[in-house]
Amino acid sequence: ARVRGPDYLEGLNPEQRAAVEATEGPVLVLAGAGTGKTRVLTTRLAHILATGRAKPWELLVVTFTNKAAREMRERITHIIGPSAEGLRWLGTFHSVAAQILRRHAELVGLKSNFTILDTDDQERLIKQVLEAENVDAKRWTPKALAGLIDHWKNRGWTPDRLPPSEGREFANGKGPALYRLYQERLRVLNACDFGDLLLHNLTLFMANPDVLADFHDRFKYVLVDEYQDTNVAQYLWLRLLAQKRQNVCCVGDDDQSIYGWRGAEVDNILRFERDFPGATVIRLERNYRSTSHILAAASGLIAANKGRLGKTLWTEQDGGEKVIVRGVWDGEAESRLIAEEIERAHKGGTEKDPRRYRDIAILVRASFQMRAFEERFVMLQIPYTVVGGPRFFERAEIRDAHAYLRLIQSPDDDLAFERIVNVPKRGIGDTTVQKLLQIARLNGVPVMQAAREAIQTDELAARTRTALSNFIRDLDRWRGQAQAIHHSRLTEQVLEESGYTDALRLDKTPTAQTRLENLKELVQSMQAFDTLEAYLEHVSLVMDMDRGPQADAVQIMTLHSAKGLEFPLVFLPGWEEGVFPSQRSMDEKGEKGLEEERRLAYVGITRAREEARISFAANRQVYGRWTSQLPSRFVDELPLANVEASSETGYYGGGPGMQQQHGSRWDESPTFGAGYSSPGWKRAQERNFRGSHPGRGQVIEGEGRLVVSESSAASDFKRGQRVFHQKFGYGAVKSVDGNKLTVTFDKAGEKKVIDSFVEKA
Ligand code: ATP
Ligand code: MG
Repeated sequence: ARVRGPDYLEGLNPEQRAAVEATEGPVLVLAGAGTGKTRVLTTRLAHILATGRAKPWELLVVTFTNKAAREMRERITHIIGPSAEGLRWLGTFHSVAAQILRRHAELVGLKSNFTILDTDDQERLIKQVLEAENVDAKRWTPKALAGLIDHWKNRGWTPDRLPPSEGREFANGKGPALYRLYQERLRVLNACDFGDLLLHNLTLFMANPDVLADFHDRFKYVLVDEYQDTNVAQYLWLRLLAQKRQNVCCVGDDDQSIYGWRGAEVDNILRFERDFPGATVIRLERNYRSTSHILAAASGLIAANKGRLGKTLWTEQDGGEKVIVRGVWDGEAESRLIAEEIERAHKGGTEKDPRRYRDIAILVRASFQMRAFEERFVMLQIPYTVVGGPRFFERAEIRDAHAYLRLIQSPDDDLAFERIVNVPKRGIGDTTVQKLLQIARLNGVPVMQAAREAIQTDELAARTRTALSNFIRDLDRWRGQAQAIHHSRLTEQVLEESGYTDALRLDKTPTAQTRLENLKELVQSMQAFDTLEAYLEHVSLVMDMDRGPQADAVQIMTLHSAKGLEFPLVFLPGWEEGVFPSQRSMDEKGEKGLEEERRLAYVGITRAREEARISFAANRQVYGRWTSQLPSRFVDELPLANVEASSETGYYGGGPGMQQQHGSRWDESPTFGAGYSSPGWKRAQERNFRGSHPGRGQVIEGEGRLVVSESSAASDFKRGQRVFHQKFGYGAVKSVDGNKLTVTFDKAGEKKVIDSFVEKA
């Protein structure tokens, strides 16, 4: 007989244990990061099963991402063994709701084999609805309506339940009617979109009490992780399913609510106590994840938010390293510094054990920030994975841009042609493309040539013919310009003139902004290459690197996808005003957006177990122009006692003036880093920029920006000299021609580069 209780309860603190053992009745665990909420949830699940309170298929368990669901399943398998396979109802809100809907589809007017539309299909369908209603789809885009409908669905509003004030501004008040038509079309097609999954569940439960009663019988216990990020529809769904037995346990942290733009509501936390009267509220205050400096830094930062429930956190892991904060010269210097530190950590320094790559994470605010790291890692052969999304060069918008460039460079590139002939939409549909491909095959010519011929005949409809000739004319024009202008400028022009960027600007979904940023980053990164060929060659080189899943790899991801995870060493780059907090949140009225960004910063720091390293760059290149950046306000908000300002090798060229400047700032400031945003510091920074770049260009003040123009003065590099290039790594100068160098790089081979992009090694 066990005296001390089962193994899985060992080591829990009293509050955690209480949360695990309070199986009956509503329980809300409200606690800060790293206090063991997820661990409590998993253990509670194991406890319910081990004590025979329920069978695996009688548990409803929802987590936020598929990854989190997978991990939870693994952890439970570890505790209770293979019977964890019976956890049929463990998944994300969407996956569980889809399962429920399949069983009862006919009750909401669908068949059980309904299809779930992806966003493309959804927009196509909305477009049809707009056209049928004679709504100008240029002015009132399908994307915009899709966004609106999604918003309504997240709030649990069917067309019937839509408040009268909603949708008035869309298409002169037609919003609600269009929503209704769209839903009808979906039904006819036996399809639903993502938002429908939960919405149909709600309708199903409310209209069919017997079905709901069945689920009440089935689900003896309900468990929810990351509760702070549930939206209204998800909340209503949970409440319906849990209201009878009331055996519901939600764990969450109001300070980590980061999906406001997706309709998540912190209010749900407050509602819980009202909707489930007599709920046991358990607070966990001991953090098991991080050392004290990391925890204190995060707590100090989040204290600046006003709308908080408030909490204290402590840890027994005293000491450890302070959170390191450093300014670097620019984005490239930042990626170089971080890559170097990763190498050092991986090799193991004098005092530390070597770190595995997978124990290291780089958490960025926006995906465009990833490129610099990815390229450097490829060059230095540091294994990495991008979690929760494609790698930079694999992103759809980047591939689209490349397809344009490839087609400009070689008109015979059929794949590129196919990819972009109707991107953005220009009325050249699939049938036309198939027809062109067929002609090309029959005549044994590239599809571009087939297209050229087809527009001379009446084989295509007049409208299609015009669209196609415009497309070909544009391509020819760009090809003509390719010799005259720099390819980064050309790319910019292609993206503008093709309507690609405009389509994204009109796009109101949250990802559109991201895609625009990625394209800017692309244009920026092309600067470093002398020719379009060199650039495209570089891309294929990067894409060609081993892409299989790697067991031991540095984890690159956005702060959003890092939720719930932990790593011994965490890098947090790009803490600059306009990057983090994002420009959008700064432009917004009021503090709401900024507070959400601050919560995101809190999530970021609290991912770290042993070391957190924040960095910001003084300059970033946007569209080939240097803009000077201000350190993020979040840097200023970190408590001085827990932070160490480091100025190691971060600065471009390692200019000593720069280091001193920073050093003195840190030392002098009464509050940490306050001087950073002062005009005085900015001036000093600019002075310094001049000072540390003699002969590299001149600094021009204009529009509050710092602009550097390339100098074409003769290079001061010599043959045989060892150099370092930001993308290609180390190498030796082979020949010098004005400011152009031919360098034989150790890893990347021979390249032509502009001297301002290499440094003496
Ligand atoms: P987040 O808010 O970031 O999701 P969380 O509250 O869910 O964090 P967990 O991920 O469950 O926290 O736990 C954080 C870390 O602390 C994990 O490594 C976990 O194994 C460990 N931990 C939690 N409770 C204990 C405990 N009682 N004893 C030892 N380690 C613990
Ligand atoms: Mg968690």
